[in-house]
Amino acid sequence: MPYLQIDSQKFLHNYQIILNTIAPKNPEKIAIVLKDNAYGHGLKQIAELAKRVKIQNAFVKNTYEALEIAPFFSYIAILYPHSLPYDSLFKEALQSPNIYFCAHSLESLKNYPKGTKIELKVDSGMHRNGIAKNTLNQAFKLIAQNALELKGIYTHNGFGDDFGSEFYTQNTEFLAIKEESLKLCAHYNLPRPRFHSLSSSGAFRAKDTQHDLQDDLFRIGIAFYGYLCQDSAFATLNLKPIAALFAQKISTLMLKSNARIGYHGVSTLKENIVSTYDIGYGDGLFRLREGMQVCSAEGFRILPRASMDCISIESAQEEVCVFNDARIFAQAFGTIPYEILSHLHAYIPKVII
Ligand SMILES: *Cc1c(COP(=O)(O)O)cnc(C)c1O
Repeated sequence: MPYLQIDSQKFLHNYQIILNTIAPKNPEKIAIVLKDNAYGHGLKQIAELAKRVKIQNAFVKNTYEALEIAPFFSYIAILYPHSLPYDSLFKEALQSPNIYFCAHSLESLKNYPKGTKIELKVDSGMHRNGIAKNTLNQAFKLIAQNALELKGIYTHNGFGDDFGSEFYTQNTEFLAIKEESLKLCAHYNLPRPRFHSLSSSGAFRAKDTQHDLQDDLFRIGIAFYGYLCQDSAFATLNLKPIAALFAQKISTLMLKSNARIGYHGVSTLKENIVSTYDIGYGDGLFRLREGMQVCSAEGFRILPRASMDCISIESAQEEVCVFNDARIFAQAFGTIPYEILSHLHAYIPKVII
């Protein structure tokens, strides 16, 4: 059985770095992003670790995830509430006192029952999701008309990773949105919502100018899992990847070196021994194919082509660590650790150490 080992000490270590760097005096401002099965790490397992360090705010993808972790947090916001059907889960979430619904458009505000707790997404320059700033007025009107509870106003800064000025342009735009929103709150006699705009890289980057940002919350995802994907011009922090993926041996063959292995025989053995291990692309591990060179954490060659349920490795060990740093696979596939990790299937067992 393959398994994903989650190192709780490394999680705590990352939490300390996040806290000390971003909000040493305001731990309540650190929110954890647990969407997509906690980036493949196991929703409940990571929620449990977050609870241990008393994190009160979480962000998830859908209603299912929100209900799964409802007991762990004071406040849970659903980033994409309509990514699952409007069914009994949705209704249950609507009635949960600690679950908020993110709204990305004026239309979506029309469909919620009275009293629904809303986090309003506003575009500040990434031009992805969210209402335009010049429609804030209409959004407030709808919120007031439909007697929704406005809990938060947020945006997503899409330039936290990049060296350049766009990051600051977006921050300035969000400040203007905040100002406008506060005026509208006063006008409609609504309590002040919480304001937030930054994910891991943006929050780390803004640490020096935080007093200008005055965000109430930082939505931290990837840094908790031990990564940052910033431009190399930024100082690196000593975050530690918390997950290591292990697989078990299925069978071993002793062969002549130069033997060709697997589909199309694309790999040629250097050693005399090859084993298969019980994880493949069907489990969400990206499919190694010809031309790709990746080794296990122990340094054993993983031989292309990977199969759906197994991979061949030049090793005789009973167990191998396929990776303990997703950047190895991310590099081989020209992608980012987020994608490698979030693809791992939820049913891969999690072992917390
Ligand atoms: C995923 C996500 C985050 C977290 O981003 P990281 O780079 O993982 O810290 C924050 N905010 C929103 C809206 C997101 O979708």
